[in-house]
Amino acid sequence: MKILVPVKRVVDYNVKVRVKADQTGVETANVKMSMNPFDEIAVEEAVRLKEAGVATEIVAVSMGVAQCQETLRTALAIGADRAIHVETTVETQPLGVAKVLKALVEKEQPGLVIMGKQAIDDDANQTGQMLAALLGWAQATFASKVTIDGDSAQVTREIDGGLETLAIKLPAIVTTDLRLNEPRYVPLPNIMKAKKKTLDTVTPESLGVDVAPRLTTVKVVEPPKRGAGKQVGSVAELVDKLRNEAKVI
Ligand code: AMP
Repeated sequence: MKILVPVKRVVDYNVKVRVKADQTGVETANVKMSMNPFDEIAVEEAVRLKEAGVATEIVAVSMGVAQCQETLRTALAIGADRAIHVETTVETQPLGVAKVLKALVEKEQPGLVIMGKQAIDDDANQTGQMLAALLGWAQATFASKVTIDGDSAQVTREIDGGLETLAIKLPAIVTTDLRLNEPRYVPLPNIMKAKKKTLDTVTPESLGVDVAPRLTTVKVVEPPKRGAGKQVGSVAELVDKLRNEAKVI
């Protein structure tokens, strides 16, 4: 079984993001970029399925600017077999990405697509669901455990107050939650070997997909700054302030 793993290049999760002066988005110039953490979990899961003899080939896909190739090299170093870069300078949005992935799924015919539940830059949590709808495939989102059994999969999901286990028929879309696995440390020899693996470049146009943005960002603002604390003299004063100033009781 072939597994397709979409990976997005995003601002590294350790970076404190800064809003651009003109409020059109966040600053990405001279900022460390990395693979979306949920996608790293997706690549790790695919590699584990290959190591277990369930998967035969792992294809990583990234859509965006030329530097997405660095993200794909990381996926190859973790253990993906080959990569496809869908090159575009247009801002990638969930529907456009889902349409591109649909075209690649039709070409590559994977038995499973494992992807992040959400990208930590746009926090959209839409692409996997849109892809499942466009393909008419089953989907199991927010997976914390995946077991493949012939032509079906059992997926455990973390839901409020417990765990839910779904059985889905393959081919299907699985989106990863944080507790699915802990991605491995990648040793230097694997990073070197990844440089020799195949990385093909295509464009949305060559796949016949229109990725023109459908959404316009009106404004991005920083969260309000936290005010200074106040010291109160008595419990009565505290209760009074909570009731009449903060209005939380
Ligand atoms: P989102 O719906 O934007 O929160 O993204 C959910 C998931 O879709 C991500 O974790 C990735 O697996 C995939 N994805 C989104 N955008 C891209 C992209 N530009 N290239 C590759 N995969 C993407």
